[in-house]
Amino acid sequence: MRTAITGGAGFIGSHLVEHLLAAGDEVIVLDDLSTGRLENLKGVIGHRRFRFIEGSILDRATVDKAVAGADRVFHLAAAVGVNLIVDHPLESLRTNIHGTEVVLDSVLEAGASLLLASTSEIYGKNTSDSLSEESDRILGSALKSRWTYAAAKGIDEAFAHAYWRQFGLRVAIVRLFNTVGPRQTGRYGMVVPRLVRQALAGEPLTVYGDGHQTRCFSYVGDIVPAITRISEDERAYGNAYNLGGNHEISILALAERIVELVGSDSPITLVPYEQAYSEGYEDMRRRVPDNTKAFGLVGFDPKTTVDQIITNVAADNRTSNTADASRWKVILAS
Ligand code: UDP
Repeated sequence: MRTAITGGAGFIGSHLVEHLLAAGDEVIVLDDLSTGRLENLKGVIGHRRFRFIEGSILDRATVDKAVAGADRVFHLAAAVGVNLIVDHPLESLRTNIHGTEVVLDSVLEAGASLLLASTSEIYGKNTSDSLSEESDRILGSALKSRWTYAAAKGIDEAFAHAYWRQFGLRVAIVRLFNTVGPRQTGRYGMVVPRLVRQALAGEPLTVYGDGHQTRCFSYVGDIVPAITRISEDERAYGNAYNLGGNHEISILALAERIVELVGSDSPITLVPYEQAYSEGYEDMRRRVPDNTKAFGLVGFDPKTTVDQIITNVAADNRTSNTADASRWKVILAS
């Protein structure tokens, strides 16, 4: 199978690339390297079935080039991370809305199938103890830029659904809940890599608010095979699937596990939200998925525990080098 992946140099994308190459696919990655990193692809650069195109999903000609001849496309390219969204609202709106429209048009014309990566963020402040795909979306003020991400992703889903209804585009949607694992950067907000890095460096772990807000972290190694199977199942077209972890944990408890598993002396500090984030941020107290639909379709039943996740992320942080992008560009060009 020939597969194109937008955002393939990102954290989840790069794991997907490895998974699909191992399964025998020919893989083409399109990434503008804004948040993605060539270093994430160091294990596959030079692979005979792998190709990399540097470019933006906002550029139709480049997207067409990446998608040409593909049997399926995974659309993972997006502006993600609370910090990025709040600090650069315009870029994230353009990338996440217009970029997706460009990808939809290109994939439709190419005759490929599409898997669209969406997010649990679209449920907003709904604190249900099990968010199902039909659950209501409770978004905060439109003047708070955090919610523009949820709004944009909701529009993406609506676009995808309309392309399915009106043009018969074979498109499936996955809503990812706090996916974590090796290679994720903490630079744009994400709590697990941030706290693990702090623990390894002996710095205070910054837990925001009272730390009693909860999340269900899912491991990238559980998510990637699931999204692959969903992309191969024609019953998924026109549908959306939650994919999240099945263990709810508070951020304070997460920080405590990190300190213990890393063997760190770091203290845990509660940081008021006003200090942690710029204007436009609002947290959500709770986010718990109901994975029944994905379990029914592809047997999604994530097994990786929070302790294993922390251990793997810490191991990755200890070994990852910070070789600059130019090194990988030279290898790619040769
Ligand atoms: N968070 C935290 N310390 C950090 C970064 C994040 O306490 O250094 C909190 C954040 O306020 C939120 C939770 O961790 O309550 C998850 O944040 P993340 O940005 O990873 O994901 P999201 O908010 O999108 O679920």
